[in-house]
Amino acid sequence: MTTRYVHGSLIVRFGAPLHKSASRQVIVLHGATIVAEAAGAALGCCYGPPVVLRRLVFPLSLVLVLGSFAGACTVSTAGPADAGVRDAAIPDAGPIPDDADAAGGAFAYKVTVTDPQDLLTASHVDMVKCLEAALDEWGQYVTGQGVLTVELRVGATATNRMSGASTSSISIGTCKNTPAPCTLAQDQAIHRLQTGKDNKAQPGVPDIAVTVSPDYWNKLIWVDPDPKARTATVPADKLDAISVFTHELGHAFGIVGYRSLDTYAPSAAPVFLSLYDDQVVVTADALTFEGPKTKAEFGPIPLTRNNTTQNVYHYGDTKTKSPYDDALMNGIVYKYALRYRVGRVDLRILDDLGVPLRGTLPPQ
Ligand SMILES: [Zn+2]
Repeated sequence: MTTRYVHGSLIVRFGAPLHKSASRQVIVLHGATIVAEAAGAALGCCYGPPVVLRRLVFPLSLVLVLGSFAGACTVSTAGPADAGVRDAAIPDAGPIPDDADAAGGAFAYKVTVTDPQDLLTASHVDMVKCLEAALDEWGQYVTGQGVLTVELRVGATATNRMSGASTSSISIGTCKNTPAPCTLAQDQAIHRLQTGKDNKAQPGVPDIAVTVSPDYWNKLIWVDPDPKARTATVPADKLDAISVFTHELGHAFGIVGYRSLDTYAPSAAPVFLSLYDDQVVVTADALTFEGPKTKAEFGPIPLTRNNTTQNVYHYGDTKTKSPYDDALMNGIVYKYALRYRVGRVDLRILDDLGVPLRGTLPPQ
């Protein structure tokens, strides 16, 4: 998927998607004008026959899309990042896949970089390319409204490696599985994908922050020469940047929370729990994620308990062998020379957190 985020994005296929067999579609823009696309320019991000964008009326910003396609498409516009279209004139009459909530295309996103001390300036282009590839990895299965905004920050992290999280959360009522008083907090990335909206408390702030420690990047990270193909050999002494970004985005999409990393107990009063936290079950000899959709397909998922920084918010535990010990969100070890990809268990966990999914989920 091509994303030109400099001038904002017009989302051509979105939420209420174009009919797959439609040969033309009129789209009405809200507050955006098209500047970069010449009449007749092909949209490279779609598959199927070439899709042609024609500007019919200017500046009323009506566009006609010709062709038949099924992918998510964006074109650059002069409007603000979220000034794009929400209005597909032909409703999607196609079937919704069995195991997905929505039939929309991949979620749209915009990446910005902050590096106030110019610590990794020479790597910014590589970092953005790899982060976008990681967003595209999730976008194969995750849909949503609006434009997910991601800030790539260069600076120290708690583990001196990388970190990723939503920048805020929103109170959405009382906890469902934890005794009152307990407030449930929805991560902003989920709020964005569900509603297309900013957190009202901090309008304009990026939804997600991914922080990269410069030493970690320089010493341990490998940049894939072709982030789309992902076929080059990962060096034996390096971690694949796209894999690590994909992992951090998993946290940003909600595998994160407020429980103690030592006792796994909720925070002290007033108690806040993330959607993920509220579906964690703690017993004397086990720590498991038991969201209903995940549990129905996989059973309780053993979570990490024997690592001071990874506990609770990763799966896999050296004392409890599970089929996911080498998977994307494992908290046991991230191996050199390996590519990690989004797996079915990761998506089922996100499904239990309310992240809108699309298409057919991959096998685990
Ligand atoms: Zn992690």
